[in-house]
Amino acid sequence: MIPTDFEDVAQQVATGRLARQSIQGLLQEAHDRYRENREGLQAHYIPALGHADPEHFALSMAHVGGSVFEVGDCGHEFSLQSISKMFVFALAVQHLGRDEVRERIGVNNTGLPFNSVMAIELNEGRPMNAMVNAGAIATTELVPGEGPEDKWVAIHRGLSDFAGRELQLDAEVYASESAANERNKALGRLLKSYGRILGDPEAAVDVYTRQCSLRITTRDLAVMGATLADGGVNPVTGVRVLDADTCRDTLAAVAASGLYERSGDWMFEIGIPAKSGVSGGIVAVAPGKGALGAFSPRLDSAGNSVRGQLAVGHLSRTLGLNLFASAPERWSVPER
Ligand code: GLU
Repeated sequence: MIPTDFEDVAQQVATGRLARQSIQGLLQEAHDRYRENREGLQAHYIPALGHADPEHFALSMAHVGGSVFEVGDCGHEFSLQSISKMFVFALAVQHLGRDEVRERIGVNNTGLPFNSVMAIELNEGRPMNAMVNAGAIATTELVPGEGPEDKWVAIHRGLSDFAGRELQLDAEVYASESAANERNKALGRLLKSYGRILGDPEAAVDVYTRQCSLRITTRDLAVMGATLADGGVNPVTGVRVLDADTCRDTLAAVAASGLYERSGDWMFEIGIPAKSGVSGGIVAVAPGKGALGAFSPRLDSAGNSVRGQLAVGHLSRTLGLNLFASAPERWSVPER
C-alpha cells in the first residue's frame, strides 16, 4: 500500500477545459477516418453477441455542461457487458466506502485476461480489481440490499441513474450468456472457496450476468461516463448519483485496469481512463470535461473494439483529453 496522510486535507480540484469546442465536427472526423476499418472479429463465446451487425459504428460525447453530441448508429442499442463493472464498482464504493472495497476486491491490475482463473490462484483468492470478471462478480455482493434480488434492484436503479433513463434488460443476451457462462460460475465457486463471496456464488454470477445484459446506446455510455467526469452529478438530469470522491476513486481503478492487461498500453497511448466490453462498447472519461461513448462490434484479441479504440484515441488527441499532456505555460521554446 502507498502511505498517505490525507485525513484532514481537503481535496482541491484543478482540471483543464476542453481545448476545442467543435465537438460535433471532431466526432464526425473520427467516424469518417475509421468507418472503413474492418479489422477484428465480434465476440462469439456469448452466442447472442455473434448475431450483432459488425458494420455498426457510433460515437457520442457528453460534455459536463450537459450537451451531448453524436455521429453514426447512435440509436442502436447493445448490451453493456464489462462496462457495467466500473459503474457497479462505483456503487459499491459509495455504499461501503473505499477502504472496505479495496480490502475485499483490490485496485491493482492482474496482468492477466479478463476471465482468468490463474489471477485468483496467484493472489490467494483476492480478485485484485473489479474490472475483471472475478472482481466484478464479487463486487455485486457489495452494493446495498439484503439478498441477490435487492442487490439487482440497486444495481439496475444505480446504472439507470448514471444513464438518466431506465435501462432495459436484453432478454436474448441474458439467456444466451446464462446458458454459456460455466467459466464465470467456476470463478464464482473459486471465490466462494476463498471466502471472497459470502452468499451463493451462482446468485452473484446471475446478478453480474444481468448487469452485463442491460441495453445501452453510445449516448447512454457518454452520459454515464460524464457523470463520473462531473463529480458524480449526471450533467443531463442534474441528479447526484455519487460523491465526488467516489468518482475520483472509480476513475483511478479504471485507469489501472479498464482495458484489462492492455491498460498500461492504453494509458501510454490514449491517456484517459476507459472501460471496454465484449459487445464492442467503450466509455472513456476525461475528468472535469466529459466522456466519450464508442460502439463497434469487431474486437481485437483482448476483447476491445478496434474502431472504438482508434476513434477514442483520435478524439483524445484532437479534443485535448490526455491527462498527461501539457504545454509550457510561460515560455515559447521550440520542441526538442
Ligand atoms: N459478460 C461478459 C463475460 O462475463 C463480459 C466480458 C467483457 O465484456 O469483457 O464474459
